[in-house]
Amino acid sequence: MSYSVRGEEPVVIEALRVRALPEGSYDHLLEFLKLYRDAVQLVIDRIWSINEKLSKRKLHKLFYNNLVSMGFRAHHAKEIYVYAESVVKSARGNGGRKPVLRRLSARVDRYDYRLDLDSMTLTLKLHSGYEAKLKLVSSKQRVEKFKGWGNYELVVKYDGSGFWVSVYFRRAVKAVKTRTVMAIDLNFDNITLAILTLDGRLVKLKRFRTPLRKVLTHRIWVERIQRRYPRSWRFIKGVRKAVDRHGEKIKNISWGYAHKVGDLVAELASKHSSIIVLEDLDKLRENNKRGREFNKRLGLWIYRRIQFCIEYEAKERNLEVVKINPRSTSSKCPRCGKKLAEYRHRVLRCRKCGFVGNRDVIATINLYKKCVSKYSRCGVPGVALNAPKPDENPSGVQGNRDDAMKNIKPHELI
Ligand SMILES: [Zn+2]
Repeated sequence: MSYSVRGEEPVVIEALRVRALPEGSYDHLLEFLKLYRDAVQLVIDRIWSINEKLSKRKLHKLFYNNLVSMGFRAHHAKEIYVYAESVVKSARGNGGRKPVLRRLSARVDRYDYRLDLDSMTLTLKLHSGYEAKLKLVSSKQRVEKFKGWGNYELVVKYDGSGFWVSVYFRRAVKAVKTRTVMAIDLNFDNITLAILTLDGRLVKLKRFRTPLRKVLTHRIWVERIQRRYPRSWRFIKGVRKAVDRHGEKIKNISWGYAHKVGDLVAELASKHSSIIVLEDLDKLRENNKRGREFNKRLGLWIYRRIQFCIEYEAKERNLEVVKINPRSTSSKCPRCGKKLAEYRHRVLRCRKCGFVGNRDVIATINLYKKCVSKYSRCGVPGVALNAPKPDENPSGVQGNRDDAMKNIKPHELI
């Protein structure tokens, strides 16, 4: 998926790549692809020898009539010289030699095809008035989401054994104006989620239990079996089946959970127009914050999976997701920045200012603060521009931040 800006309006572009089965003979389609490749090569050769930058207008003048006389339609001709020019440009940029095309592939403008997503059929307009009809091979679910989108171009390829089609879809992004920040802390037993306004007021605090203990139980079973039959478990049918069965359980529980949480989180973020803040798990490895707490046998893959689903669901709803280094987010006082000490089980206390809070909630608030200070300093438009900058404007902002802290008391959270 890629984001780009067309005029003022941001758009999302996504390609649907599928196998395509020709209905009936595909002689003309193959002929078209060969002709197309040769035409692109012809244009490349000419542009290469001219050795100067050519405007669209110049390209049109040089090649249009020639290409049309070869049997191409107007938009074919345009696609051919524009594509050839971009190939030459990138080859020159790399200091390479003149490109020689071998593959059979053609870019086709939307005026030269008809796509019907309901019947999954594609009709291509070829050279010399020919047409080719193709059946697209894909599941209903994969195609369903593109039904409201516009499509503007496709690439058809022949790889020696069959045809492939990539259709480029796009839709306008209605930019979500960020009103709140949702910080998420992933832990072994639960996920803690805090939504705060840009000026530090707590809107919502939520906690989900994770099924990681259950996953760990299956993991331990697998390890136990493998330890008992260290060499042979793979080869004894019953033992391998048992291992597979536990593996299947682990997979089902973790994917099921990740999808559910991704959906819930993104729904909530959408309701509150939140930017979502996640811990950067790549940074987690370095500072080893969770060495003891995270069971090493489970590893980080399950947290990555949960994050993947959150990000995926968020993008579907045009919400922004940022990843923040979680270093010291669960050990520093969110009010004064001093190191916190254990007070009760999972509750931490600051010896300097007396702040007391649940460890996971503290982590979310510190993530929130890091996000706000990072993005207000960078001046990312639409993100936390009015947010407090910790340490920069203590007098005006302190009150708000303290309000947030006052709202969060350990007893509310358990
Ligand atoms: Zn403190």
